[in-house]
Parts: sequence; structure tokens; C-alpha cells
Amino acid sequence: MKHDAILCPFCGTAQFNKHTCTFCHKTFGEKSRKEAQIEMGPWYIRNKANPYAAGWSYTMMKKMAGNGVLNAKSVVRGPSTRQFWLMAKFTPGISHLIGSCYACPVPVRETDTCCTGCGAPFSEYPNRNALGLRYATQEEAQAALAELEATSVSPRTGLHNDRPSKPSPLAIAPPQEHPHKQAIATRQAVVESGNPNEKPFVPGADLLDQLFGA
Ligand SMILES: [Zn+2]
Ligand SMILES: [Zn+2]
Repeated sequence: MKHDAILCPFCGTAQFNKHTCTFCHKTFGEKSRKEAQIEMGPWYIRNKANPYAAGWSYTMMKKMAGNGVLNAKSVVRGPSTRQFWLMAKFTPGISHLIGSCYACPVPVRETDTCCTGCGAPFSEYPNRNALGLRYATQEEAQAALAELEATSVSPRTGLHNDRPSKPSPLAIAPPQEHPHKQAIATRQAVVESGNPNEKPFVPGADLLDQLFGA
């Protein structure tokens, strides 16, 4: 067992170190996982050094603007960009944190609630669990897909595309509930805790419990 690799829950790196990630340097204990959940949210700062990190809460984005990690060179995505990447200085909710209005070139203060130049509002994004997607429900996504297919033009003929389209993954019915509600054996190693009162941590086990029942 001692030679099994484990997967870091924070960055997904497989490794043999059972306590600290050799890539992102986070520890695997309960405290560390709780801290990560507290900091998580729907905002991302593009970072080649740790491209697999989870998103940040708006509170964390403010903190990082304060200490310069989030700055004029940053590329971000979040609820106000509908999860598309955008320069931080053009991103509503973020630009004023680094001293820019997203809509005009007037410099602003982080504490301003709107632009003194153009009046653009500087909204806050306290919802930790909202991605800001354009199509928030399955119905909206289906309608958008139908509209796309109705307006698509064949690249070959330049005419309206009337070939039967491939079945879209969006059109596939959701899977039935798992017929055998049994625990799925994990192939990952268990992370032993130094604290005898703490349950050993199996990376991904929470998720499997939710999906298939404990
Ligand atoms: Zn890691
Ligand atoms: Zn402005």
C-alpha cells in the first residue's frame, strides 16, 4: 500500500508524498481542506505556475488586489465575464480593485462605488456559488443550442446547413440513478492523519458519497 500514489485534492497532481503536495505545497489535512473551501469561489486568476487551482471567492480577489497578486497584468474570469477570460482592468467587479474603470480610462479608487468619469457602477460579487453563466438552466441551454443549429450555415456550400447534426451531449437524457447504491472502491491511497480522532482522508471520497450514497 505504501507505494500507492495519491492525488492532491487542490491541484490534481499525483505523487507519493502523503502529507504535502510536491507541486502546490498545500498540506492534505482537514484544516487545509477547510481553509481551501473557505477561500474558494467562482473567480479565477490565470496562473501558469498553478493552472489547476480552484477558483477564488470575491473576498479573496479583494485580498489579492490589496497585496498585488491581482494587478494590471492579471487575466481573470468570473461571474461578470460569464467565465470567459478577460484582462482584469476591463472586468466589472474587479477593475476598480486595481484602480481602473472597466468602461473608461479614468483612474479610480478601490473604495469607489462607481466611476467618477463615466458613472459605470462598481458592483460587488458576494455570491460564492454563482458562476454567472449565460445559460443558467438546462432549458436555456437547449433553447440556445436549437437557435444555433437553426442559424448555422454550411461552411462548404455557404447555404443553410440542413445536414442532420450529430446528437449534442446537451440533448442526451440525464442518466438514471445508479441501480446498485453501493460504495465504490477507491483506487487511491488513504491519507493517514496524525490525529487519531480525525477520519482518514480519501481524496474524492466526499464526492463519491454524494453521488452514490455512503
Ligand atoms: Zn497540489
Ligand atoms: Zn469610467
